[in-house]
Amino acid sequence: MSKKNVHEHGVEVMEEILDGYNDKTKKDRKKKLDVVKADDVKCGINANRKIRPGVMSMRGCAYAGAKGVVFGPIKDMIHISHGPVGCGQYSWAARRNFANGIPGIDNYVTMQITSDFQEKDIVFGGDKKLTNMIEEANNLFPLNKGVSILSECPIGLIGDDIEAVARQTAKTIEKPVIPCRCEGFRGVSQSLGHHIANDSLRDWVYEKDLQGAAFEASPYDVALIGDYNIGGDAWSSRMILEDMGLNIVAQSTGDASVSEIANTSKAKVILIHCYRSMNYISRYLEEKHGIPWLEFNFFGPTQVFKSMRKIAEMFDDKIKEQTEKIIKEKYEPEFAKIVEKFKPRLEGKNCMLFVGGLRPRHTIPAFRDLGVEVGITGYEFAHNDDYARTLEYIDKTTFIVDDMNEYEMEKLLENFKPDLVGSGIKEKYSTQKAGIPFRQMHSWDYSGPYHGLDGFAVFARDMDMAVNGPVWKKVTPPWK
Ligand code: SF4
Repeated sequence: MSKKNVHEHGVEVMEEILDGYNDKTKKDRKKKLDVVKADDVKCGINANRKIRPGVMSMRGCAYAGAKGVVFGPIKDMIHISHGPVGCGQYSWAARRNFANGIPGIDNYVTMQITSDFQEKDIVFGGDKKLTNMIEEANNLFPLNKGVSILSECPIGLIGDDIEAVARQTAKTIEKPVIPCRCEGFRGVSQSLGHHIANDSLRDWVYEKDLQGAAFEASPYDVALIGDYNIGGDAWSSRMILEDMGLNIVAQSTGDASVSEIANTSKAKVILIHCYRSMNYISRYLEEKHGIPWLEFNFFGPTQVFKSMRKIAEMFDDKIKEQTEKIIKEKYEPEFAKIVEKFKPRLEGKNCMLFVGGLRPRHTIPAFRDLGVEVGITGYEFAHNDDYARTLEYIDKTTFIVDDMNEYEMEKLLENFKPDLVGSGIKEKYSTQKAGIPFRQMHSWDYSGPYHGLDGFAVFARDMDMAVNGPVWKKVTPPWK
């Protein structure tokens, strides 16, 4: 089949996909697919709804959103995967949220710590086991600064009271113990897990007025939140913010400490990268402590410059002048060198994205900076406000898909044959077998960082390596 383009054939392909379903599924999936044009003001997607059973969705669960995303990266906290062994084992060190420290001594990010439920725990309840476990873990890892209890599916179903255990053990070990009701049956995706985890931080950190380490306050204190430091992303974002003259008092939750989480409420401005996963806590801190928050995007030069200026606007002339100075003297020339080297190798290529709740829109300008057009994009667990924000990033006809499944992915690849696909591990190998270059856009394919200046250099190199790899010329045997 020859390659179709989204502009001319988007609607036709959408109809072909829907025709492959039974009536009920068709009715449901109709609300999840749309073809939008640059001047559209509304996206027709009805997001954040249940998955149709049996369609091979790419979504995860609330536990993944709470433990895997929000809590797991907090480095000096013991995170208990509370329930049977599976969830903690499969999510063990699978997300590349880098953190400083010595593993097992003062950093527990890459460990699997679980209550390993057996039948008797299901029948008699696991609260006693959990209490013993928290005390034991505190003795084994004395440098920990707190404990989180991340509920897996059975906990809520058998009626355990992890909040009571948290209150009691916090007194025994004299450290914060935070319960999180993120059982995988709650909600429809990872997204509710983010919300529940934000609420746990609200109730057990800020409402309890937990204090972080003391620091000398300045008018330039900011908290960098919703950056999980994948492959060191938050570190390369910090470099820009510090160059601008800002003082980062808290970074969360990538490479975060319990003290930094507590100190987030002391910042003058909260800078939020991942809106989807941490807007809840930003709204709360604004309401309760009057701290303004600002969304920004550090993927690729266009957005980095725009974001630097937008952030500087929140401060005085000193920061604004310093920002203009470093953009002109350092960042413009350095970014230009990267574009000059890689754009000629990538110009005119077309990319399809399918990621979680932020990157399907946030990375579009970085691709465009390199001459690559994103013609298809979609989210696993975004809400309608994310789709509204996506329209701001679109300047050509784009196929949008919410909660994509494997069948839809195959159909999209078959029809549009993108030059590059950016998605997750479950999608990687089937795409490569179809002869299409692929980059993982969750784990950065064990590369990164992709944020900031250093990140863009790695991003551009990686995309070039994928698209122009010699292997793609060898897919068809010479005798065919
Ligand atoms: S759905 Fe339940 S069992 Fe599956 S990973 Fe999530 S918490 Fe664990």
